[in-house]
Amino acid sequence: MYQKPKGTRDLLGRELQRLEALNAAARAFFGQNGYEEIRTPTFEFAALFDRSIGETTDIVEHEIYKFEVNKKLYALRPEGTASVLRAFIENKLRLPVRFLYLWSMYRRERPQKGRYREFLQIGIELLGESKPFYDADIIERGKQYLQSVGARDFTIELNSIGCPECREAYRRTLEDYLQPNLSRLCDDCRRRFERNFLRIFDCKKESCQRLYDDAPKITDKLCGECAQHYVDVKKYLRYFGVDYVENKKMVRGLDYYTRTVFEFKHGELGAQDTIIAGGRYDLLMRELGGPDTPCIGWALGPERLLLTMPEELPSVKARRAFFLIGVGERYLPTMISLRTQIHNNGHRCFLGDPGEPIKHQMKKADRFKADHVVICGEDEEKEGIYTVKEMSTGRQSKIPVAEFESFLIHA
Ligand code: ATP
Ligand code: MG
Repeated sequence: MYQKPKGTRDLLGRELQRLEALNAAARAFFGQNGYEEIRTPTFEFAALFDRSIGETTDIVEHEIYKFEVNKKLYALRPEGTASVLRAFIENKLRLPVRFLYLWSMYRRERPQKGRYREFLQIGIELLGESKPFYDADIIERGKQYLQSVGARDFTIELNSIGCPECREAYRRTLEDYLQPNLSRLCDDCRRRFERNFLRIFDCKKESCQRLYDDAPKITDKLCGECAQHYVDVKKYLRYFGVDYVENKKMVRGLDYYTRTVFEFKHGELGAQDTIIAGGRYDLLMRELGGPDTPCIGWALGPERLLLTMPEELPSVKARRAFFLIGVGERYLPTMISLRTQIHNNGHRCFLGDPGEPIKHQMKKADRFKADHVVICGEDEEKEGIYTVKEMSTGRQSKIPVAEFESFLIHA
């Protein structure tokens, strides 16, 4: 017996349908907003992620699947932004541009509820816009998308982590504060403080967090331009009608962010409570060898989102399942055009084999969990009707061929 690797999942039946419904809703919604779908390779040269995400981040240090072939080092993508920018630069695309991606990502994390080693992300990236208006815009679009699929009870947390200048000045302030307390930090935080100091705020240990509660925060030490940007983002969020809370300890797990960072959290998820995470990354394009280009984006974990949602997604119109029964092969052409008509109305439809006895076809209709069985035979042909049996009640009705379309629309 073979088993799937730890942290991976087989997506089947209802869950896969629900995920696909979120994908379809994202394609429709972000399509309307000018986001173009993009697909890039599942693996890239490992250096792309090391460079963009940052050598001393958790992702690059522990979580990337790397493999070497012919002395070249590759990596399965752990996130989307680096690949999107690489593709933008390599294909010499024009600005401004908006991208949507719906991809699997790979990270060697400890599997838990809502945390897998292969997982999906729905992400958007807006390249070439620097104004705070756009920070607010993509946050509001995230909120609107979540509402459109029926998600409820999420909180938007906001912070600004400034630019490299703010950060350098802030590092000294933080150092002064932490110096007398260094012995109370955990080993990880001491290491983080040396190599990637903002990351200490990500620590899960309560003893460290207590210390950070009272520490000076980068948001209070921003340079003039970054401070103004942050003020304006909040102003536009209010214009857009987006409620948010400021979280001065939120720094995000990737190195490339500048200024605005945000997360959408859901109270019922426990430790893995972030559904959407993102921010501005004005320096990354340059870092990857492209033109100086301000960018902003976010990624949503649809598998986590589904954990917060009722079994039926309100946004998805319940589609009916039809099973067509033919009384003899000469009814096959009628059945085939009927199937097309049913499909065109967004329902599922499955053909019985009209050469088989009706009883056999009925059994298959049961196994297919049909809501309606439609019978095509001599009587129907003569009278110009279809006999439709509603499986839940056993009720049969005769629907004139000319009225069948209207029946399908309301089914
Ligand atoms: P976390 O703090 O939960 O590890 P992160 O900061 O690593 O999240 P991002 O890299 O910003 O998350 O990813 C954006 C979103 O993708 C997350 O908010 C989450 O919904 C989803 N996500 C991230 N990692 C996983 C995973 N291992 N399994 C399932 N979903 C994930
Ligand atoms: Mg993570």
